[in-house]
Amino acid sequence: MHEATREVFRNFPVWMQVVFYVVGLATIGFFLYGFWLRYKKYRKGRDAGRFNNLGSRFFKALAAMATNRTVYKRDAYAGTAHWLIFWGFVVLFIGTVIVALDHDFIEPVFKYRLLQGPFYEWFSLILDVFGVLFIIGLLMMMFRRGTMHLPQLNYQRPDLEPGKYDRSAYRKDDRVFLWLLLLIAVTGFLLEGVRIAADGTPEFEAWSPAGFTIAHWFGNVDANALHHYIWWLHGIIVLVFIAYIPYSKAMHMLLDYANLMFKDDMAARRLPRVSEEKMKEGMGYLKLEDFTWKELLDFDSCTKCGRCHIACPARASGAPLSPRDLILDMRTFADAGQPTAEWFRQTFSNGKKANGKKAGIAGDVIKADTLWSCTTCMACVEACPVGIEHLTSIVQLRRTLVENGTMENSLQDALMNIGDYGNSFGQSERMRAKWTKGLDFKIKDARKEEVEYLWFVGDYASYDARSQNMTQKAAAIFNQIGMDFGILYDGEKNAGNDVRRIGEEGLFEMLVEDNMAAFESASFKEIVTTDPHSFNTIKNEYPEFGGSYPTYHYTGLLCKLLDEGRLKFSRKLSHYKVTYHDPCYLGRYNNETAAPRKLLEALGVEFHEMRRCKENSFCCGAGGGRIWMDDSKLDKRPSEMRIEEALEIDGVNLFIVACPKDYAMYSDAVKTSGNEDKIAVKDIIELVEEAL
Ligand code: SF4
Ligand code: SF4
Repeated sequence: MHEATREVFRNFPVWMQVVFYVVGLATIGFFLYGFWLRYKKYRKGRDAGRFNNLGSRFFKALAAMATNRTVYKRDAYAGTAHWLIFWGFVVLFIGTVIVALDHDFIEPVFKYRLLQGPFYEWFSLILDVFGVLFIIGLLMMMFRRGTMHLPQLNYQRPDLEPGKYDRSAYRKDDRVFLWLLLLIAVTGFLLEGVRIAADGTPEFEAWSPAGFTIAHWFGNVDANALHHYIWWLHGIIVLVFIAYIPYSKAMHMLLDYANLMFKDDMAARRLPRVSEEKMKEGMGYLKLEDFTWKELLDFDSCTKCGRCHIACPARASGAPLSPRDLILDMRTFADAGQPTAEWFRQTFSNGKKANGKKAGIAGDVIKADTLWSCTTCMACVEACPVGIEHLTSIVQLRRTLVENGTMENSLQDALMNIGDYGNSFGQSERMRAKWTKGLDFKIKDARKEEVEYLWFVGDYASYDARSQNMTQKAAAIFNQIGMDFGILYDGEKNAGNDVRRIGEEGLFEMLVEDNMAAFESASFKEIVTTDPHSFNTIKNEYPEFGGSYPTYHYTGLLCKLLDEGRLKFSRKLSHYKVTYHDPCYLGRYNNETAAPRKLLEALGVEFHEMRRCKENSFCCGAGGGRIWMDDSKLDKRPSEMRIEEALEIDGVNLFIVACPKDYAMYSDAVKTSGNEDKIAVKDIIELVEEAL
């Protein structure tokens, strides 16, 4: 009877073993060379300041990889398939390392064999089970790519006519990657089967159920002779795969862990500052060395999964922007002329070949129209399973466009108005608090009287005729529930959130300085704002300039007052069937999705979620300065698509918002989409007023 174990080089002459080791070492050398070249490229990037909290970064990324949480999110099929492939690969890899250690180290050094007896039997069983799961995962992925025709896997570009670009190389790379893995797994099982057959199919090999079954297929074939061929076939495919990793899509297996580990949880929420030297020498990105190493790592980490592509409201509305293509174009830019260029050459968005050419980045490789199409909604960053920070790079590239003056006149006018008057409406600063005239009480001037809450009203709520009514209602409610609050009157300026996302960093810093000076002149405990855009920048970005203030969006504050019993509703609004739109800068940027829902629940309305909600909400199309740009060339405005999404809910009659810009955008959208008689737009504040 055989002992439960296996031979690694079964009947291999010594020269054959030597050949294998030499080829194996050469392959590992080629693999390391590929990664060294990539590392050299990252070294050219600027510092990204990501080496803090290394321990927690390491374990957070490990947990994300192990659970597959980021891939599973909103795509259970892909998540399950990826989990099977990931864990199948990890277990098979560990198994191979154990075999190598046992054969090349433990046995020669300690004269002891690890892979024998019960240990070997359990080892065989676990590897067989995970090997089968690995194959199932790969087949699921192949089925998905080959037959499901998913929009996220379609390389069709929104910015170019078909035939003007070539993505065939990406398709090849996607297929080669999956096929190599499948061939490794299948030849691995064949090898196991033929070895067991050649050994006479001993009973203990039933612990390798897949190999044991395959062994029976060989019947009368001379398994001994066949074993050598299959061994080499399997070995060569494995070596080819190892060599292929750093030059192809397979590199994501290693890079994505690093990318998740060095991800900034505040990415997009808090944009990077520009140093004084950079301000002097010219902002934005012109060359490879302007990117940070994390951005260069981002570009290489993209798996082309297309989640950002389908989440992007700009792409959905027919604008010439896909965050996926943008990242891939920047990868091609970063690799142009470098020995790390992918095996399969790509073309840029403007149709020029990537190889060896000198291309500018903002406005050339990435077209100005593409960059200006972004609504800065952050949906791409949120959707990306591998921690890519598209929006930071987009704003850096926009800074170059701003520096060159490459922008629409209307946007330029808005920026000039903000610079001259502190608001995008181009109205006098003294008019900022004109809306208070319609109130039957006086709002305190926080610069003159001490208040508990400083209300940062924001531009739209102060100057936009449609929003002023809402602002007055908010004031009346604050007053009615006994809140001690005040405003800055003409001391307030645009908070700068969108100015910064346009790429006008100099103007943003001036606004921060002016607003902080006004805050310093006032006496208050906490800030409340009705504007999610102002909320984001005051809460997340002002602290870097020395201004840390406890800041609420009004929904969060009302919720707190509700909990404290200071806000009580005298009637329920059960006659309304409503849905709620999460503003990007409140829900996705600041995870404030609970407070508005809690208020709606307390108001007693019949509430229904839209298909896309909370952090997966769909942008209205106004952010990042888009509200000041021409949207007449879009196939369909994002706000109109969103209204139609709300109308998918049977009988819904109110579209609830919590942002003055949303109020303006959606009030227009119900009219332009011809849905005025079906649905009305209201801010939560109006419902609160009605219920008080
Ligand atoms: S931030 Fe929004 S609009 Fe901009 S690229 Fe990302 S998903 Fe598209
Ligand atoms: S950037 Fe992220 S979400 Fe977009 S295709 Fe690449 S990996 Fe997927």
